Amino acid sequence: FKSFSCDFSTSRLALAAVNSKNEVPSTKLYINGEFIESSTDRWIPLYNPATNDMITKVPETTTEELKAAAETAAEAFKTWRKTSVLTRQRAMLDLQLLIRQNMDKLARSITEEQGKTFADAKGDVLRGLQVVENACGIPSSLLGETLEVSTDMDTFTIRQPLGVTAGICPFNFPAMIPLWMFPLSIAAGNTMIIKPSERDPGAMMLLAELAAEAGIPKGVLNVVHGSVDAVNFICDNEHIKAISFVGSDAAGKYIHARGSANGKRVQANLGAKNHGVILPDANKNHTLNQLAGAAFGAAGQRCMALSTIVFVGETQEWLQDLVERAKKLKVTGGFEPDADLGPLISPQAKERVERLIQSGVDQGAKLLLDGRNPTVPEKYKKGNFVGPTILANVETHMECYKEEIFGPVLVCLSVDTLDEAIELINKNPYGNGTAIFTNSGSSARYFSLNIDVGQVGVNIPIPVPLPMFSFTGSRGSIQGDVNFYGKSGLQFYTQTKTVTSLWRKEDVMSNRAAVNMPTMR
Ligand code: NAD
Repeated sequence: FKSFSCDFSTSRLALAAVNSKNEVPSTKLYINGEFIESSTDRWIPLYNPATNDMITKVPETTTEELKAAAETAAEAFKTWRKTSVLTRQRAMLDLQLLIRQNMDKLARSITEEQGKTFADAKGDVLRGLQVVENACGIPSSLLGETLEVSTDMDTFTIRQPLGVTAGICPFNFPAMIPLWMFPLSIAAGNTMIIKPSERDPGAMMLLAELAAEAGIPKGVLNVVHGSVDAVNFICDNEHIKAISFVGSDAAGKYIHARGSANGKRVQANLGAKNHGVILPDANKNHTLNQLAGAAFGAAGQRCMALSTIVFVGETQEWLQDLVERAKKLKVTGGFEPDADLGPLISPQAKERVERLIQSGVDQGAKLLLDGRNPTVPEKYKKGNFVGPTILANVETHMECYKEEIFGPVLVCLSVDTLDEAIELINKNPYGNGTAIFTNSGSSARYFSLNIDVGQVGVNIPIPVPLPMFSFTGSRGSIQGDVNFYGKSGLQFYTQTKTVTSLWRKEDVMSNRAAVNMPTMR
């Protein structure tokens, strides 16, 4: 497994920032209702990706602290489990209001630590907030089923919480992804330990403050930090019954295998390579605007970024117009009012994206727009910026097609028919999201039914489902079989109990024991 030290190796620029500041505030742990300073001697430096100034240090939580988090969550479960569903609904109602009131504060933390634009950061919070709003309906969504089997027999099902659950989060949606996890789990009666990404835990810390203010009792929600050791603890700890993971392939497969081997439920959403298919009958202007936004927004660091375009037939002639739109996007620090895309998360991510662009060129793709070394204002000269980049004539054997680039790089392929486009997409190992642009209902339906991908958009480039539905995934983009939020999410965080009861009015006259399997006829 790749060592973490390479991810956090301090660049020369970053070191300079640390030295000139000497000390930065540390990120706290949230255990048993207290925000506490870790006693660790291992800290992960966290840099503002737009400047590479160090802004906080994140603890590698010690084993004792991790144990305390698990034990406090197990203890809190005993009482939280006994609260009425209306109490838990009330907590969600208060939490959603507090998140709405603190939207800007949360978004500021995201822009500072993750780099995305302030407007986009608010979208990150909003999409998570929608899950909290949906969790406010917990009394209805937890309803079970009941059947009068016969005049003296009833069967009913109820959904009961599991106990302690855990969430392991990626860096790219510091608010939305933790909010996919803890509100639903807690509303269903579980307790939870969240490990946000060590690269941007600030939004989750603010959410923990808001959860406390919303009256979620101590120990019900806990936040720990770190990387491999914290993750291994979560996979192995006896109190933890279920793990939600969102992130890269390697970590997700590892966590799924290790957590499952320890008898836990694991849901894991992994990497992506999302294709957009353009049919000649699509509305050209709408399509090009959507493509440019979906490929380059958030600097391409969305699991649903539309990073690959499959032009069908003559639509490849639209490429030059797409290049013109991409050129107009402003690359700068996320707090600048005119920013369209901010920096990548780290110098290592920037180097990797630049290397993949070069690999495309070396393998014969045509570089129509080169975003390497974009012009940015002086104060962002040390940031991890890459501008919109478009590679045309890409073929499926090229590294830039095979890898999830996770940067503002659009790779373009061409085919002659819709069937060829479907075949190409279904051959790609990933199955996270896809979109088709067309004015033909029958083509859209044919595509939607025959494509082996979790999220499908028709004239919508980033079809992240609303929270009454579920975020799914297919093939290489998912491990485990129960999805995030919506009905599936609730299913993941609860177990079903089926109760069958027999109530006879008259005394049974027979004195012989019934040894055969009850057939309930
Ligand atoms: P990442 O896998 O590096 O990190 C995710 C989490 O796993 C972090 O909390 C990290 O501490 C932990 N982790 C990382 N490496 C580990 C290891 N070797 N052992 C144990 N734990 C480890 O992912 P990231 O770079 O933060 O996020 C980007 C990735 O997430 C992209 O691949 C993106 O497609 C994916 N993603 C997927 C979805 C989805 O729903 N399919 C949503 C968002 C992001």
